[in-house]
Amino acid sequence: MAAQYQTLSLSSSSCARPLHAAFLARPLGLSLSTSSLAPGAAAVRRLVVVAAVKKAVAVLKGTSNVEGVVTLVQENDGPTIVNVRVTGLTPGLHGFHLHEYGDTTNGCISTGAHFNPNKMTHGAPEDEIRHAGDLGNIVADFEGVAEATIVDKQIPLSGPNSVVGRAFVVHELEDDLGKGGHELSLTTGNAGGRLACGVVGLTLLESLLETLS
Ligand SMILES: [Zn+2]
Repeated sequence: MAAQYQTLSLSSSSCARPLHAAFLARPLGLSLSTSSLAPGAAAVRRLVVVAAVKKAVAVLKGTSNVEGVVTLVQENDGPTIVNVRVTGLTPGLHGFHLHEYGDTTNGCISTGAHFNPNKMTHGAPEDEIRHAGDLGNIVADFEGVAEATIVDKQIPLSGPNSVVGRAFVVHELEDDLGKGGHELSLTTGNAGGRLACGVVGLTLLESLLETLS
């Protein structure tokens, strides 16, 4: 009778993308019965609860002019969709990673190494052997703006490998993805200094409650 699926319209960030509205939320089938609406007859109202979508955000800052916002959305156990916008960069490629700690007491240095729960060596996002936090490079245009949408299965927003409370870091140089032959290639991708970083925190999900009669 009533539609069992609805489109969940996620929050509009400054850069609206089609992806933001592309999630189907699955109702949990919670039913509520009330008898107050129709005199003499029990009206059954079905309350559809939209859940199982998690959203997080990180605000990137550093000692330079580089700054940005990263949003992460994950539905159920699916991949995490990461939307990135960073400004103030030099044009070109910049390593972009999730680091182990959400600690910026000593600037971006105290975020530690790349998030690496499986004890791998550094690699490209598409590699079998990679740090979970290896998200490759973002590319800044001539105005120093880098925008990207990254879809990745190794950076969930819950569970033992959750990245909530860890930190994104954007680097000075290109990440060689483990293939540069430099002594740092297999640990950091030789991506140079840390221009800006931000801790991943959970944020408001515009969950929808729809009552179907
Ligand atoms: Zn790495």
